[in-house]
Amino acid sequence: MRTWKWMLTAFLLVTLSAMAQQSADQSSTSSAVQANAAGSQTATTPAPTTQPAASQAANPAAGSASTAAPTTMDQVVDRSIVREHALMDMLKTRTPLVETYLQNLKSDQKLGPVPSEDHYFLGRLDLGEAVDRRDYLSKDESFEKNLLGGVSKLFKFEYKPMGFSWMIFADREDFDRGHYSFKYVRREFLGDVRCLVFDVTPKKDAGKGRFLGRIWVEDQDYNIVRLNGTYAPRPKNAMYFHMDSWRLNLIPGYWVPAYIYSEEGDFSYGAKDKMAFKAQSRIWGYDLKKGGKEDELTSLRVDSVKDETPSTTDASPLEAQRQWQQQAEDNVVERLQESGLVAPDGEVDKVLQTVVNNLIVTNNIDLPRPVRTRVMITSPLETFSVGNTIVVSRGLIDVLPDEASLAMVLSHELAHIVLGHNLGSKFAFNDRMLFSDESTYNNFGFRHNPDEETAADAKAMELLKNSPYAQKLDVPSLFLKELSERAPSLNALLTAHLGNSFTNDKGQLVRLSALATSGPALDANKLDQIAALPMGGRVKLNAWNDRVELTKSAPVAITSARDKMPFEVTPFFPRLSRLTSDGNTGNATSASNTAPSN
Ligand SMILES: [Zn+2]
Repeated sequence: MRTWKWMLTAFLLVTLSAMAQQSADQSSTSSAVQANAAGSQTATTPAPTTQPAASQAANPAAGSASTAAPTTMDQVVDRSIVREHALMDMLKTRTPLVETYLQNLKSDQKLGPVPSEDHYFLGRLDLGEAVDRRDYLSKDESFEKNLLGGVSKLFKFEYKPMGFSWMIFADREDFDRGHYSFKYVRREFLGDVRCLVFDVTPKKDAGKGRFLGRIWVEDQDYNIVRLNGTYAPRPKNAMYFHMDSWRLNLIPGYWVPAYIYSEEGDFSYGAKDKMAFKAQSRIWGYDLKKGGKEDELTSLRVDSVKDETPSTTDASPLEAQRQWQQQAEDNVVERLQESGLVAPDGEVDKVLQTVVNNLIVTNNIDLPRPVRTRVMITSPLETFSVGNTIVVSRGLIDVLPDEASLAMVLSHELAHIVLGHNLGSKFAFNDRMLFSDESTYNNFGFRHNPDEETAADAKAMELLKNSPYAQKLDVPSLFLKELSERAPSLNALLTAHLGNSFTNDKGQLVRLSALATSGPALDANKLDQIAALPMGGRVKLNAWNDRVELTKSAPVAITSARDKMPFEVTPFFPRLSRLTSDGNTGNATSASNTAPSN
């Protein structure tokens, strides 16, 4: 029995380390992105208004034109305009989550541009008549204030989260031939999908804040699948970011906005940029409110009159206590999934579960209830446990270099469970589940006190030393060293929202610091030493139904210390493919080791 589990471990190790580097697509196409961004620096005199004229957006989405195949590029443009309005219409009632993680950059002689500080925003988009946003983390601001890409105060740039979500659509109000000129560029494959590429420029006097850049239109239904550019002209004292916005074919007939990459700044000699940053925005939870619950109700049947659970006796006090904890655990996990913060049980959980089982079996741990694992969809590096469920954030799984590091992360939470540091039993009361999704972070919290943290760390070391990972702790140790070194500039990434952070208020590593002080020394020049991965390299998220799975990108050779980019934001380059008839999409599954042609 045990040996079989070990073999599965070995298999996972190969899978995980195969993904230890970035996808080939990112590097091979970034030049195209840059060239285009550089080409969109046009500026003209300010025009009268930035105010969104709500509700007058024409909606010519009637499917009349969608039968005959277009024969001219003009017809393709017309069709793509119709499809863009159809998408806006379809998403009108949706309120997906949107997360932006931003790293300000400074220049490092050896490593190139590196993060100097970071910012994190998490909110919910309302895709109604105008695009609006409610924040999970701070007090909301009015739509107008959030409208601009980044309003600069006199001394300091202030990022407006809304600015990063703008390129969900090219132009929510006036995406039509009256306001824009379209120029055909070429055909190009994005992943498996053949696209027609157009440059889009606002017409003279089209007004402020119009889309300026390039669109990729797939050649079957003529939906826009990618937008790249900025908005122009920019108002005084504000600027619009450059954005690269990707959509995925997650439901039949539509390509849903999923990723937006933003970048500003120039580190070439003599450049005078005051601001340099890279930011990733992710959108998900489009289908949250539906969630299949209505179906459940309409298909309610009465065939199971009697509860068929095996227990025939009353619960003893200890059993009652355990059932109570189970109830709290179920409530919390379900509520977090409803809020769009935790992914449904899936493929990644099986990987986490296997690693947890390796720790449990080799340590002869006997628990009354099974340990379960779930993935929190957000980027900040955090873990927590509620009852016997261990939750690990997507951002953390993304940056872990190997399976032993994953075991290191899980061992700390397993230690809490083994030591009986149970938190959150108050959530067995259902009234405590009744709050708005945006206030989840104010209503939930699973932080242990410092004594319990110290005890869990000690126990975690013990668990690891008895496990199959005992001889593989060099990499986890390097991971913690890298994290420790980068911590001062990654405050937002290291701020846990529900659990304990890896670092304290001063940015010092507190989690498993004993492991961080042992093992080999961190050396950026050693190219075979991968201590931590860039953000976003491991877990793929289905923006429509929140399911997560591991990416399958092929490893790319690291040729310099600059290629390592630990904890850093990189551009998105999802491999696009069409939804297949069985409901699977290649977007979230297929390997991304083939560079786009052309
Ligand atoms: Zn802890």
